[in-house]
Amino acid sequence: MKLNNPPHVPFKQIDIWNNFSKRLLSSSKVELFLDYDGTITPIHKTPSEIILSSDTIHILQQLIQLPNVRVTILTGRSMKDIRKFIPFENIRLVANHGFHIYMDGNEWVHPDAESSFPKMHQLQDILLTALKSFSNVFVENKQFTLGIHYRNAAAKDTPIVKELTKKNISSFDPKLVITESKEVIEVQPPIKWGKGNAVSKILKVHPYPHNSLKIYIGDDITDEDAFQVLKSSGITIYVGEISETKAQYYVENVKEVLQILRMIIKLRTHNSSHRLIL
Ligand SMILES: [Mg+2]
Repeated sequence: MKLNNPPHVPFKQIDIWNNFSKRLLSSSKVELFLDYDGTITPIHKTPSEIILSSDTIHILQQLIQLPNVRVTILTGRSMKDIRKFIPFENIRLVANHGFHIYMDGNEWVHPDAESSFPKMHQLQDILLTALKSFSNVFVENKQFTLGIHYRNAAAKDTPIVKELTKKNISSFDPKLVITESKEVIEVQPPIKWGKGNAVSKILKVHPYPHNSLKIYIGDDITDEDAFQVLKSSGITIYVGEISETKAQYYVENVKEVLQILRMIIKLRTHNSSHRLIL
């Protein structure tokens, strides 16, 4: 597969891993941004079945209890949906690709996204009618955005489903933004706002010291603008097979992400804060 320029570096490369350990020990604060599906939990055939393993829940619980470590989970899912999977209070949540943020007990919705709610509802009805003969296609209404999941559709139907979906969206409102993700077509209002803007907003609300360590891990096309935002000031890690990405490093799978999270716990836990264990 073609590599990007500069070439991706595997995060498990020993010098990268060692440097990461040192920064974990020396940074005053850690800001950890984690995408949900495909990053801390493997992608499943049905989105509603993607629950965290008890091991991952335990890791997140340990992370959010660490002093000076702040955790944000980002997703294209609705806030209602992500809350079911992440039932902790002292964690930040970014839902709907950045349009909806839960932080420090407060919720924020992008004002322009809020007004798209009735429109998305209308479009959902149109798509349900247009795609009714494809029983395995799921149209998910996430309030401000829609997700058309065709992962379970028959392979021969996939091109027709994609074409029908895009055609119906464009004729309903050509200004709506269509993004193709992993066997999902996402529909968003035409607002220049994404996960990267949400990351900037969160970091602005809580100004961070110069030597804080910002880490972003994600596997989606929608994570790319966040990689861009943190490119020069943080550590950005793409999850999955090497493809075009703006992230500096990559890991192969969720298992490797969890190894990174365990390393953060190990090195940021009070008793081990002066030891460098590699
Ligand atoms: Mg993802």
